[in-house]
Amino acid sequence: MAETKKIAVIAGDGIGPEVVAEAEKVLKRSEELFGYSFELSHGLFGGIAIDQKGTPLPQETLDLCKGADAVLLGAVGGPKWDDNPKELRPETGLLGIRKALGLFSNIRPAVVFDCLKDASTLKPEVLEGTDLIVVRELTGGIYFGDKFRRDGANGQEAVDTCVYNVSEVERIVRQAFEIARTRRKKLASVDKANVLETSRLWRETVNRIAPEYPDVELEHVLVDNCAMQLLRRPSSFDVIVTENMFGDILSDEAAMLTGSIGMLSSASLGEGSFGLYEPVHGSAPDIAGQGIANPIATILSVALMFRLTFGYADAADSIERAVKNVLDAGHRTGDIAVDRSKAIGTKAMGDLIVAAMTR
Ligand code: NAD
Repeated sequence: MAETKKIAVIAGDGIGPEVVAEAEKVLKRSEELFGYSFELSHGLFGGIAIDQKGTPLPQETLDLCKGADAVLLGAVGGPKWDDNPKELRPETGLLGIRKALGLFSNIRPAVVFDCLKDASTLKPEVLEGTDLIVVRELTGGIYFGDKFRRDGANGQEAVDTCVYNVSEVERIVRQAFEIARTRRKKLASVDKANVLETSRLWRETVNRIAPEYPDVELEHVLVDNCAMQLLRRPSSFDVIVTENMFGDILSDEAAMLTGSIGMLSSASLGEGSFGLYEPVHGSAPDIAGQGIANPIATILSVALMFRLTFGYADAADSIERAVKNVLDAGHRTGDIAVDRSKAIGTKAMGDLIVAAMTR
């Protein structure tokens, strides 16, 4: 029997509890198939925590997360809390949890399933074989640098400063090299080294670390070129690592290659193997409570957790294979269905994926 892993499960609001319930079934099936052992503890977070505890991120939920090996999060938010003051908004809880858990990178896979190629706005032949991960630095760069206004010779000026130190670059780049090692061993480091000093430091640091990973093929790509190449040759990328703002933009661009938000998983990682795993989508209040949400993004977030935090590649493969087989067999939730009258619900999709999992 494998060591018991502690997972904090935070369902959140809207469709969060619906999709997380299906991911929990997948966790259970992974225990049965592979002999792994998970201890799940449930916590309140987001709008539901505001209603029941008067704060979006109760201390007990934070403690639960800190005591866990990984966190599985549904989604938070909804119109009910939109007009609340800042400290009583679900989004404030999201920023708070990331900071409190020391999460400094965001990992977003973009995988194009062959049978869904037509759902993307790009030509199917361009998308063929696309399977990439964007690793985005999350705590530095221009979003966190000094911001101010001043009077200039031609009127008011605004200034945003972009700062990175070597250790911030080193830790994210090492993480990206390690992830590339578990995949096709290709890393694209994206910067703007022809113009920006922070990018020159970034590139120098990448080049200094690269000899530690001789098995990983490294390319440097300027961010404007990367934005183009993602549309022209997406399948040639494996792992892309970049700073905060470039990553914000490129991860959204990469997400659109796949065609549906209901399919996109993500992870936010800190030091060591700890990670918070969640679907990219929000709480989808427009379809909450109807049992029609696509649970695949959350289920694939479990596969990502297995791969990145626990090193359970066998179970991760099993989940990803099951998702592919269920889609290949023609089963679709409404968001990815061509003929919506034949769409299946959240629970049915979860059950099919669980049934398709094999050793
Ligand atoms: P959203 O992702 O919730 O929904 C956008 C559209 O995609 C909606 O039409 C929705 O029905 C659809 N959709 C999303 N996930 C789906 C799924 N799994 N299956 C089928 N369809 C799906 O984005 P939004 O409407 O901009 O935001 C709604 C709420 O979620 C807001 O309160 C927002 O702040 C919050 N939000 C939370 C997170 C998070 O928890 N990390 C992320 C984004 C948005």
